[in-house]
Amino acid sequence: MRLSRYFLPVLKETPKEAEIISHQLMLRAGMIKQQAAGSYTWLPLGFKVLNKVVRIIEEEQNRSGAIQLLMPTVQSADLWKESGRYDAYGKEMLRIEDRHERQMLFGPTNEEMITDVFRTYVRSYKDLPLNLYHIQWKFRDEVRPRFGTMRSREFLMKDAYSFDLDEAGARAAFYRMFVAYLRTFRRMGLTGIPMRADTGPIGGDLSYEFHVLADTGESQVYLHKDLAGKTIPPIDTDYRGDLKPIFDDWTSLFAATDEMTDEAGFKAAVPEDKQLSARGIEVGHIFYFGTKYSEPMKATVTGPDGKDVLVQMGSYGIGPSRLVPAIIEAFHDEAGIVWPVSVAPFEAVVINLKVGDAESDTASIKLYGELQAAGIDALYDDRDQGAGGKFATADLIGIPYQLIMPAARLKEGMAEIKHRKSGERETLPIGDAVKKLVALIVPQRLDTI
Ligand code: ATP
Ligand code: MG
Repeated sequence: MRLSRYFLPVLKETPKEAEIISHQLMLRAGMIKQQAAGSYTWLPLGFKVLNKVVRIIEEEQNRSGAIQLLMPTVQSADLWKESGRYDAYGKEMLRIEDRHERQMLFGPTNEEMITDVFRTYVRSYKDLPLNLYHIQWKFRDEVRPRFGTMRSREFLMKDAYSFDLDEAGARAAFYRMFVAYLRTFRRMGLTGIPMRADTGPIGGDLSYEFHVLADTGESQVYLHKDLAGKTIPPIDTDYRGDLKPIFDDWTSLFAATDEMTDEAGFKAAVPEDKQLSARGIEVGHIFYFGTKYSEPMKATVTGPDGKDVLVQMGSYGIGPSRLVPAIIEAFHDEAGIVWPVSVAPFEAVVINLKVGDAESDTASIKLYGELQAAGIDALYDDRDQGAGGKFATADLIGIPYQLIMPAARLKEGMAEIKHRKSGERETLPIGDAVKKLVALIVPQRLDTI
């Protein structure tokens, strides 16, 4: 992408309405524009990051055996009356009436609709296990939309739904999704910490929220220190074998939000030198709820003995549009965003320091072309303006590697690579630059971990 032809409305001033750093940086970097309370346009740069986050989620969902479909945003109220949630959901639900005075709603989640899809087609236990997911916009009329896309009213969610014949099957589905979540967050450079969550009236022990630690997080969390930087073991990407040991390993250490625990309980469970009380951002929630929806909505399959049984279900949510600011909360400095390569809007930027100068233009265009040919997602800053502004933009929007050729270096056939994260600059022959960038970037894509 040539920056002169791109749409990147960066702001010089920090917008006053933005309270937290990720919101400030998303506005300043030209990633989002507010349209109404809790409603945002994703500008090209922001949309590119959002899509990379979505892509990682899709890859890990698919790898775990979940199957993608797409359900509508606007739903009929009838399904929600069947499940009993139409009245229970309250003011967070945006209710709509169509021209025939039929009651509709903008979906805040899709348990009812997926249960309807399931009961329409699935008849036999032989078709199980099944896990269906979609990535679709949701609307919740939040009391306090705030922090930009961190808590918005219209937001993107990946929601998966598992269907199993019995509890043992449902547990296996839950563990598989648990591991998929660990992998998903890890690929974005984050440690997603599983925390025990409320299971509500259904009870049971399988409800976990995944939190990312950040000072600006909305939840107060209590956890065993060793979880904060815990790395996941290499996991068979085919998800074969028993995944319960990984679940047990991650959940044996205490971690819960203040909704689940009081401080005294935490202090009794964790040795003093291992206690960490911090702020967390909820980025995902996975939940086994048995027959909560299959019972009122009569979603059954014929079991091996020929008798009908209610299907066992679980649901698994992740918020991609919340993850983007959560990643920024984890990775930024005074100059701007410091994207991990795996979700960076561009992996490298070629900065032409002397636009209009034949030698500089030729060298820049050649390198830009070679980077693209090598499969690098590259940006070319060909704007006719001063070096200071170009460096500031590259730093602000957080491109991991900047390739520059100051005039004196260019004469010697040399170029410089600036590493955004460390600030380090290295000089190398122009002919080696592309190879070097490929070697730096490709392993950090974390396509497989
Ligand atoms: P919260 O407690 O933060 O309101 P929730 O418990 O309502 O979250 P879920 O219903 O479990 O969230 O939704 C699954 C995921 O969707 C959340 O983990 C989060 O990543 C995302 N999400 C939920 N509400 C919002 C929102 N208002 N804006 C952006 N993302 C959201
Ligand atoms: Mg909520």
